Amino acid sequence: MRTVAVALGNRSYSIFVGAGLLSALGRLCAEQELGRRCAVVSDDRVARLYARPVLAALRAAGFEPMLICAPHGETSKSLKMIQAGCDQLAAHRLERKSFIVALGGGVVGDLAGFLAAIYLRGIPFVQAPTTLLAQVDSSVGGKVGVNLKAGKNLVGAFHQPRLVLCDLRTLNSLPAREFRAGLAEVIKYGIICDAPLFARLERDLPRLLRRDASVLGEVVARCCKLKAEVVGQDETETGLRAILNFGHTIGHAIENISGYGKYLHGEAISIGQAAAARLSVELAGLPADEAARIESLFLRAGLPVGITLSAPARARLLAAMQLDKKVSGGEVKFVLASRIGRVESGREVPPALLEKVLTTPVGRKPAEGTKRTKGTNRNNGKDGKNVGKSAIRGSTELAEVNPQSAISN
Ligand code: NAD
Repeated sequence: MRTVAVALGNRSYSIFVGAGLLSALGRLCAEQELGRRCAVVSDDRVARLYARPVLAALRAAGFEPMLICAPHGETSKSLKMIQAGCDQLAAHRLERKSFIVALGGGVVGDLAGFLAAIYLRGIPFVQAPTTLLAQVDSSVGGKVGVNLKAGKNLVGAFHQPRLVLCDLRTLNSLPAREFRAGLAEVIKYGIICDAPLFARLERDLPRLLRRDASVLGEVVARCCKLKAEVVGQDETETGLRAILNFGHTIGHAIENISGYGKYLHGEAISIGQAAAARLSVELAGLPADEAARIESLFLRAGLPVGITLSAPARARLLAAMQLDKKVSGGEVKFVLASRIGRVESGREVPPALLEKVLTTPVGRKPAEGTKRTKGTNRNNGKDGKNVGKSAIRGSTELAEVNPQSAISN
């Protein structure tokens, strides 16, 4: 087991990374001096797989857990679910020292964390992330919240967990598409602050796609450490933390205009990061060959790097970016890379250039070790094993966004 510390004064906590850790959940919670009553918040898919052992581990440690189960998917990150969750917490008479366990991916973590942030003006919570994306990113750092029709994560709070428990074994049941989506956040760390990690990912991607436990453990722990360092310096995103949003302004807008759920978060930010790399070549001095390495790594990981949009859809995408939380004084601010491993935030981008990078054809040169396949990549690779070799090249043109489906959440 690896342990990563998040240093935030009296809100400090540990992230545990290892195989089979869910069985230790009760014991680790017992060390936190929490109340006996608790709620495990999960989604239907994750609950079917892991709720029983988690509830048993909590009971064995003397806790009295209840289960709150949301439908899986991004649409559960809603104020409606928050209202329903608060009612269930109250019915179970959770008190100030009671706590919530978020058992699931980023959707569950954001939803359960926000419930914990507002119920009784804040109760403790524990993150037990079960997707790669949640283990390397969303479970760490205390950003919690839900979506509005107007945009992603527009209602939320900073509420740090008491501990984070990344059980690598849960990743074995993760569908290949979800696993690849998590790699988008892993690659992001390489781009924004860790060039050696980026090079390692270029080298070890096939082992990662096979979910090789030792590589996975090292990479997950490394990403958690990088996020912990950033959050430790800037908990509430007044400066440095903004670098974690590389590719997210465009990515969130894609999620928004296509109706949450059409693109996985990781897929949307993969497109966003590839576009941000193209912007970086134009505006931040990123060498073209490094931008090509970035695009190539996303493609090899089975992720999209472009999107085909009609003119009206493109206009709506640009409008959706105006709703991003990073907008300041009406200006959309971007994180851009000057090298792999080095970025700067708060960069303004002329709208015409944004249009240009969004319409630039993508996927010019096949990446080493990959082959062209026809059609979209969305259902390629039933398991992670063949993905790095053959499934994905792809045309990264995912389906055109239907103008009628805008903001349908
Ligand atoms: P998700 O939570 O929707 O999970 C993906 C799917 O995988 C779901 O259908 C889920 O039921 C299923 N699943 C989860 N774990 C499983 C497992 N072990 N085995 C089988 N199936 C499993 O998606 P996600 O990609 O984990 O998270 C995306 C969300 O995270 C977005 O809402 C995004 O905004 C948010 N996010 C938040 C932060 C933050 O700092 N708070 C950072 C990044 C992303």
